[in-house]
Amino acid sequence: MAGVAFRNISKVFGKDVKAVDNLNLEIRDKEFMVLVGPSGCGKTTALRMIAGLEESTEGDIMIGEVRVNDVPPKDRDIAMVFQNYALYPHMNVYDNIAFGLRLRELKGFFWQLTHMAEARRIKLDIDSRVKEVARMLQIEKYLHRRPKELSGGQRQRVALARAIVRKPKVFLMDEPLSNLDAKLRVETRAELIRLHRSLGITTIYVTHDQTEAMTMGQRIAIMRDGKLQQCDEPETVYAYPANKFVASFIGSPPMNFVDAKITNVGEQAYVDAGDFKLALPAGHPAAGMSGKSVTLGIRPEEIFDATLPSRVTPNELNTIRAKVDVLEPLGDRYIAYLTIGGHKLVSSIDNETKIKVDQEANFTINLERIHIFDNDTEAAIR
Ligand code: ATP
Repeated sequence: MAGVAFRNISKVFGKDVKAVDNLNLEIRDKEFMVLVGPSGCGKTTALRMIAGLEESTEGDIMIGEVRVNDVPPKDRDIAMVFQNYALYPHMNVYDNIAFGLRLRELKGFFWQLTHMAEARRIKLDIDSRVKEVARMLQIEKYLHRRPKELSGGQRQRVALARAIVRKPKVFLMDEPLSNLDAKLRVETRAELIRLHRSLGITTIYVTHDQTEAMTMGQRIAIMRDGKLQQCDEPETVYAYPANKFVASFIGSPPMNFVDAKITNVGEQAYVDAGDFKLALPAGHPAAGMSGKSVTLGIRPEEIFDATLPSRVTPNELNTIRAKVDVLEPLGDRYIAYLTIGGHKLVSSIDNETKIKVDQEANFTINLERIHIFDNDTEAAIR
């Protein structure tokens, strides 16, 4: 078992493609860490550097206490699972799972001839390990089949089994679920989490899907343009995004952003969007920045129908009046598209609502959960 660390890691392709830019990130022993970000942000490159499939241009990659930059991939004791499974098509499932173990643990043919007893013991051990992981992943029935005789989900299990059977120090997973249909993806997600819990192996999981990141990661590391934006537990990243990019990337439907200014009326500070203004909670650091241009961020689920019971009691400081443009029913909730003067807001409203399209209604906003971003740096002010 071991943690993994990126210390001042950069990777430049060719002359000037900086795929990873001074990455510092510690993944704890036994942790499930998700690297997430839009396409091209450098997450696969970061993963490949741990595996040794890509050399870093600068910095240190640590597995446990060992700097592994110069350790060949086969000696790093990691196992990688990819999106495209990479199974051997001519081998059955059993041999696909056993192949790496045989290669590692049974030395050459002549060694086996001269060490028959030991070779036999190793073969029996490999057999019981293959069967044990096959049972764990419920693929025992398919051990004799070739990959082409399996469904996508079954192939993915074989790829996982092949990685697990080696009991590596670290698992690296690169979008392993993206070839599965939506239902199977959700099931396999839960299965991977259970598997991680029972095996307790440090896992680094790459995805561009924020829902996958939020549901799977013990911590998530959000990347953009090769740079780490924030790394924390999913709940913390959701509630306290470090900047506007993280705020926009995490959460569905995404956070509303509105151009605004900080204003003061007497003692009370407001975030003023022109067509509406909201009171800043007492002691908010933006309160002392009167005149500053900012971006106000409001999550759709923090906008409530003012006539329904909610966490927020309507008052003159937290209530806005908006026109309802569109109502999308989701069953338990509606997604309501609102207009307030020149601003558009999306809200996620309880299905008890009586609001109607093309009519105006009062909405309350949870002021404790609004976000203020500095327009110069995009960093959260809090
Ligand atoms: P995706 O989700 O699309 O796989 P990613 O976040 O994993 O994206 P990377 O594959 O790590 O991103 O790529 C990061 C950047 O490095 C991109 O701009 C990409 O074009 C570039 N890049 C990756 N591999 C190479 C390479 N072998 N040669 C040149 N540029 C590369």
